[in-house]
Amino acid sequence: MTLKANLNLPTEAIQATAGRQSPIQSKERSGQSAQIGAAAKASKAKRNKRPTLQRDRGAKKEHAGSIASKSVKAQRRVRNGHNRLVLKRTATSSVFRFQINACCPHTRARVGSFQTPHGEVITPRFMPVGTLGTVKGITTTQLAETGAQMVLSNTYHLHLQPGEEIVAEAGGLHRFMSWDGPILTDSGGFQVFSLAGINRIDDHGVDFRNPRDGSKIQLTPERVIKIQMALGADVAMAFDQCPPYPATESEVETSCRRTHAWLERCVNTHQRSDQALFGIVQGGCFPHLREQSAKVVNSFDLPGIAIGGVSVGEPVEEMHRIVRQVPPLLPEDRPRYLMGIGTVREMAIAVANGIDLFDCVLPTRLGRHGTALVGGERWNLRNARFRRDHTPLDASCSCEACRKHSRAYLNHLIRNEELLGLTLLSLHNITHLIRFTTAMRQAIQEGCFSEDFAPWQQDSPAHHTW
Ligand SMILES: [Zn+2]
Repeated sequence: MTLKANLNLPTEAIQATAGRQSPIQSKERSGQSAQIGAAAKASKAKRNKRPTLQRDRGAKKEHAGSIASKSVKAQRRVRNGHNRLVLKRTATSSVFRFQINACCPHTRARVGSFQTPHGEVITPRFMPVGTLGTVKGITTTQLAETGAQMVLSNTYHLHLQPGEEIVAEAGGLHRFMSWDGPILTDSGGFQVFSLAGINRIDDHGVDFRNPRDGSKIQLTPERVIKIQMALGADVAMAFDQCPPYPATESEVETSCRRTHAWLERCVNTHQRSDQALFGIVQGGCFPHLREQSAKVVNSFDLPGIAIGGVSVGEPVEEMHRIVRQVPPLLPEDRPRYLMGIGTVREMAIAVANGIDLFDCVLPTRLGRHGTALVGGERWNLRNARFRRDHTPLDASCSCEACRKHSRAYLNHLIRNEELLGLTLLSLHNITHLIRFTTAMRQAIQEGCFSEDFAPWQQDSPAHHTW
């Protein structure tokens, strides 16, 4: 089938008819994983048809893993409790395509291109976080100069303020915040469980108090997806339950079961063909639950998959183990997004294991506290040693802070709590992390990723080669 033909095919979700039973429900009732197994088999069959990825140095455009072609073929056949055949397609659009352009011959690192309605995202890529429709302290013009492509925003926070109706009234989140590039909205699951005063959580959803005015709010998978459809980001995230750390195996198992059932409801609710829905793999620090979660999320044949439940307080070794275990369980031809990670060492380990996308509030949070990321270190610009240092913050960086200003001037701004100081440091920190992911991309393309960035090597040059 040609790409042109693919583009002409209908892409809307075909929903199940009344009386349909979900794979998850069926699994729970029968105690078997027949549907998951069937979907996994279908997925395996599709993988077997794919061309083998070349791992030669500098290999480019050898594998056009078009999500469009996958999604239109993805008529999952699910039998309901009455043995009635139900056809289903995921709500992906032909505009979402992920293509792998180069692979590292020694690790799982790859360079990809993710097409969205608002442009291309070249991976590996760090995504700045604009929780409330703004990357704190930075205009969207300045943001574009950092090299940012996809920007995050948060469903939970935008629902509380200003409300999705107002954003939709403005013409959607892109217009509201004046960002023409791709946007991803996190579902807010993490925030609901970490910030809100939860009154009740069950399989239906979550009831909590609005931290702004104490009013009662209920979020369900259906509601969260409707809010994200109103916001209109390029990528919407499924509503999940992120277990805290530490949590018992039983607690994590419950959150996994709920996350999978909610994913089914998210998929059934999602209708926008110009918006991709990503699923989230949970499972805490339990390898068998991670594996099971990956299988279930894969079975939905979504255009991208995230790994959640990391950086929630677990030891860093556990995080590394999850980052090594889960990516090989996910389809090679979809973007893989590691949620909430934004330190250079962890990003390098993750890229080496096949992760494509990252987000973290770290660069702006550090910037607001007067801290700059330089050469793999964190510098407190309040420090007296910078008072008479008239050199650029980072001579190798082309951001506005480094191009136009000195360490002494930044020290002066930060000491006086001038807003410009926080803006300049946030700009620099975001640029720094995007430069780091860009440097990894170039190294993969040039065939030197494992030498330059492999963090398992002693004295890894990863922190000073870009
Ligand atoms: Zn800079």
